[in-house]
Amino acid sequence: MAEITRDVLIVGAGAAGLTAANDLRKAGLSVAVLEARDRVGGRLWTDVIDGAMLEIGGQWVSPDQDALKEAIEELGLETYSRYREGDSVYVGPDGQAHRFTGEMFPVAPETEAEIARITDILDALVAEIDPDKPWEHPNAADWDSISWDAWLRQQTDDDEAVRNLAFATGSAMLTKPTHAFSLLQSLLMAASAGSYSNLVDADFILDERVVGVCSRCLCAWPSVWATTCC
Ligand SMILES: Cc1cc2nc3c(=O)[nH]c(=O)nc-3n(C[C@H](O)[C@H](O)[C@H](O)COP(=O)(O)OP(=O)(O)OC[C@H]3O[C@@H](n4cnc5c(N)ncnc54)[C@H](O)[C@@H]3O)c2cc1C
Repeated sequence: MAEITRDVLIVGAGAAGLTAANDLRKAGLSVAVLEARDRVGGRLWTDVIDGAMLEIGGQWVSPDQDALKEAIEELGLETYSRYREGDSVYVGPDGQAHRFTGEMFPVAPETEAEIARITDILDALVAEIDPDKPWEHPNAADWDSISWDAWLRQQTDDDEAVRNLAFATGSAMLTKPTHAFSLLQSLLMAASAGSYSNLVDADFILDERVVGVCSRCLCAWPSVWATTCC
């Protein structure tokens, strides 16, 4: 059995593990990163499918992502503004694709009103949270004991409104089912973006992309991982 002797052993060569490894090496410590997969990157992943290079994981950079922007600058990478022209596409409960323009999905007026009402509630809750210390809010324990999905369903019977509100932090951001994390985690995610409204504002949250691909961030870091990169 191979023996690895380092000051610090990190499990997982995703962005968090590799960032930690980089910082620890800068602080003069020796580091090894263990990765279960045969590639680094975790949820940052670029692959070639039918000859096209596609981003399969994280790829957008938003103005609130200070640490990511610092990493991009440190690595000498550049970003470009996301393509914003043309229609958007909404797939609702009917399973059909509907083209639309503007900010709001093409939902019924009553669903739109419910989304706006609950968004206001969420913005008010998010404004109370310190993104660096979410656990210090007096309601933190309560908010951490109810799932994001269950809390939304307490607010409204409108299933389409719940789904539209839920996906921003669920499948889009944390990439987890909405029953699998708490209201507190959802509020924290939104707090890190400044507000829930920011989080669902495509112009804000999907602002820039990395020239080349986002996983270049990982390839540019010093080779501290146990498997090979790129
Ligand atoms: C489709 C998609 C789109 C996204 N879009 C964006 C976006 O546009 N902008 C954005 O900012 N974020 C986006 N994200 C989220 C972003 O990609 C993640 O938040 C981020 O990559 C998570 O990094 P991490 O290091 O915390 O975890 P991960 O990337 O999950 O890394 C964890 C690593 O640990 C490894 N591991 C786990 N357990 C073990 C073990 N026991 N032993 C060894 N290795 C182990 C895993 O294999 C993995 O490589 C997106 C995610 C997805 C999936």
